[in-house]
Amino acid sequence: MGKVWFVGAGPGAPDLMTVRGTRLLAEAGAILYTGSLVAKAALQWASPGCEIADSKSMDLEQVRGWLLERARRHATVVRLQTGDPTLYGVLAELARPLDAAGVPIGIVPGVSSAMAAAAAAGECLTLPEVTQTVIFTRLSERTSMPETESLISLASHGCTLCIFLSIDRIETVVARLEEAGWSPRAPVVVVHKATWPGEELVVRATLAEIARRCREAGVERQAMILVSPALGARDRVDGKTSKLYDAAFPRRFRPGGRPPAA
Ligand code: SAH
Repeated sequence: MGKVWFVGAGPGAPDLMTVRGTRLLAEAGAILYTGSLVAKAALQWASPGCEIADSKSMDLEQVRGWLLERARRHATVVRLQTGDPTLYGVLAELARPLDAAGVPIGIVPGVSSAMAAAAAAGECLTLPEVTQTVIFTRLSERTSMPETESLISLASHGCTLCIFLSIDRIETVVARLEEAGWSPRAPVVVVHKATWPGEELVVRATLAEIARRCREAGVERQAMILVSPALGARDRVDGKTSKLYDAAFPRRFRPGGRPPAA
């Protein structure tokens, strides 16, 4: 029995895959990738004799069967997934039959599109004293959401939101955010195909304008919606310097500094 590796391909640019991920692709006897989301360039590390298949048109049972069967024949099998494999994939469902059959699995993290979108837009997801919490979420659709995780309740915290899988219903996202108390003037950033060479597009607008701007730009899929009081921090003329950089602020590792009171 071989080992099945769930490898994060990163958001699109092939050089954003981890070194470990590329090494496993080179070692793999078989690779199953999600063709609808993973850039083909990510397969450049596969060895010439490697069996490569696209799971785009497979159902869950077929993907499970494919991985199990290949694990019987190859020492290393890779399931290549977009971004980070632990977010919005079906890793647990795919791993269960492998676990039951005694096939060892490993997970290699990847750069999530949430991080890639922030980097593409030149933004930070946290800002000292402004927001220190990031929520990864989505609108419900085929995958229903737990009751306590409605976008309205999550958005009411006022912290950073990275909204996956929801760009096709951006109007609903906007309505939920307004219901949660976000101002129509709040800044929103949408990044389409973050880091994909030649295809990345960053749309910036207020909450009131973002849906129209996305439609005008033709952004209807594969996009990350970032909502945060930290957006635009670099442009703020009144931006206060964080206490983190203030010499008077006691810090654990600064000479003479004391840890902040709990
Ligand atoms: N595991 C992935 C998410 C898979 S769900 C990750 O960690 O990024 C697919 C959703 O991720 C898309 O609907 C979109 O919201 C987002 N996404 C994936 N790749 C993206 C990219 N390059 N740019 C912007 N959003 C992306």
